[in-house]
Amino acid sequence: TQSTRPQRLLGAVQKNATRGHPRSVIQAIDHFCRNKEWAMNVGDEKGCILDSVVSEVSPATVLELGTYCGYSTVRIASRLPPHAKLITLEFNPEFAVIARQVIAWAGVEDKVQLVEGASGDWIPRMKEQFGVKTFDLVFLDHWKDRYLPDTKLMEECGLLRKGSILLADNVICPGTPDYLEYVRNSPRYESQYFKSHLEYTKVEDGLEKSVFLG
Ligand code: SAM
Ligand code: MG
Repeated sequence: TQSTRPQRLLGAVQKNATRGHPRSVIQAIDHFCRNKEWAMNVGDEKGCILDSVVSEVSPATVLELGTYCGYSTVRIASRLPPHAKLITLEFNPEFAVIARQVIAWAGVEDKVQLVEGASGDWIPRMKEQFGVKTFDLVFLDHWKDRYLPDTKLMEECGLLRKGSILLADNVICPGTPDYLEYVRNSPRYESQYFKSHLEYTKVEDGLEKSVFLG
């Protein structure tokens, strides 16, 4: 039977990355995606911006929307302070199976809770199911038309506190115009664009970092 791209990506990790070494997992995936097959990871260039935001915020609680193969999950988890927790949501079970193995290969599974299901179903249940009060950092990287409704849902569910950071990928390519309009014009956010390129290409894309002001 034919393998899928996520399975081949996992194969590249198992062949080329050192167990328990997150940087080598990231490097193996970037090498595979630059030289063999493009995949929708945040990638190395925007990944550096993600790294610096995680280091700067030093969050105790992180929510990631859209796990895919766990690339950004590993990037974030490997930079968290001790005892911090990252919840990552993925609604495609085939991707979740791969991501669990990538996360375990990197040795960051203790910091990560991968939850299978749709963001719209899980966001309202975060408090009761996972005992989360609020998230210090949210990385939005799921389907682009969900950024805005899920942000409003997180607000309604009280998952954001004054100072919570939203970091949104792909705000230019494929683009999230309604979300950008919202965070840039709402008095409840202070928002900043970080110009970069779409993963593994020269096409303009970037991350939008938005501070929730309460
Ligand atoms: N963050 C990953 C990284 O950089 O390595 C890439 C995530 S990929 C761009 C988007 C993922 O979000 C896909 O795997 C897709 O199945 C998942 N997804 C899309 N909409 C979702 C939703 N509403 N709830 C949960 N997962 C979703
Ligand atoms: Mg992305």
